[in-house]
Amino acid sequence: MKFGNNIFMKIPFVAFDEINNRIKNDLVQIFEDFVDSKYYVLGNKVSEFENEYALFNQMEYCVGLASGLDGLFLALRVLEIGEEDEVIVPSNTYIATVLAISMVGAKPIFCEPILQTYNLDPKKIENLISNKTKAIMPVHLYGQCCEMDTIMEIAQKYNLFVVEDNAQSQGATHKGKMTGSFGHINATSFYPTKNLGALGDAGAITTNSKDYADKMKKIRNYGSNKRYFNEIKGVNSRLDELQAAILTYKLKTLEAYTFEREEIARMYSENLENITEINLPKTHPDFKNVFHLYVIRTQKRDLLKDYLEKNGIGTVIHYPIPPHLQEAYKNLGYKKGDFPIAEEIADTILSLPLYIGMKKEEVLYVCQIIKQFFNV
Ligand SMILES: *Cc1c(COP(=O)(O)O)cnc(C)c1O
Repeated sequence: MKFGNNIFMKIPFVAFDEINNRIKNDLVQIFEDFVDSKYYVLGNKVSEFENEYALFNQMEYCVGLASGLDGLFLALRVLEIGEEDEVIVPSNTYIATVLAISMVGAKPIFCEPILQTYNLDPKKIENLISNKTKAIMPVHLYGQCCEMDTIMEIAQKYNLFVVEDNAQSQGATHKGKMTGSFGHINATSFYPTKNLGALGDAGAITTNSKDYADKMKKIRNYGSNKRYFNEIKGVNSRLDELQAAILTYKLKTLEAYTFEREEIARMYSENLENITEINLPKTHPDFKNVFHLYVIRTQKRDLLKDYLEKNGIGTVIHYPIPPHLQEAYKNLGYKKGDFPIAEEIADTILSLPLYIGMKKEEVLYVCQIIKQFFNV
């Protein structure tokens, strides 16, 4: 498809207009039912969603929580990981995974990812294990599964817990098995932009252990199962009843929406594959990538980002500063150069627009402008 010089499109990085249009009437109905239910905290809608999500994720139990960060943090608490303990986490993850480790008082041990997949490099894990190591937290970044069979083997060999961060990969699979179904307790987020997104904050954990699920249900509700009887020191991290109703409804369409994401990603890959100065996302042939983000890598990242911006196209960098170089973690004493792969990724990645309802012409326009930038 050809575009004349004077064609200009405004394409945001992410947009809710189209998805909201499609489901607005249903959302209004859900809200009305919610109001009429007169049950606003931890009611039937939360337990219904928990049942549906556990089924979807091929797990016995799901416990709804207030956010994905709470899921990660409380998973570590339920596993009794705390001070003096070490937890292995990818050096290029979103800060939340690292914060969860800090919140229980444990120490994050950064493991470099594979440059081509952005996911934890299993070959680098064993060297980082000490007698203080208690858990590995694989993060399925951008919609693609980590190499879970190798990671689980290592965890078994050293008797470590595994807590998956599945915030970006609901529905992704590893040789047919879903992300969020490997670890002892796994956390996910339903932040509005995630593949399964609420209209506010929401999160959950999944587990096959009744003990862990029961304990999590207590902790999220002040440490109590029975009102005013507090067995442990809990928190308030309940999944909101209205968000639960919205999520149950949206879960039914997740597969179709994932297909839309895959189609957009396929179009990008087809149209950009001849540009030698760009690295496209690489999906392992045995894995299903749900394309939470379409992330490319180029040495000319900053110039390309500006050029796209001038042509009306929004992009985002996920993430511009790796955790070890964040101000918040200067106490760990790391400096530039300590995790070169994470730093290289932060300096060269760019996430292209990708959202439900993005039109074919819009994807092609983005590709056209990128080709123009690289003179191909
Ligand atoms: C979004 C996200 C989280 C945190 O989820 P919240 O619901 O915002 O707390 C954690 N980890 C990753 C990888 C995420 O993308």
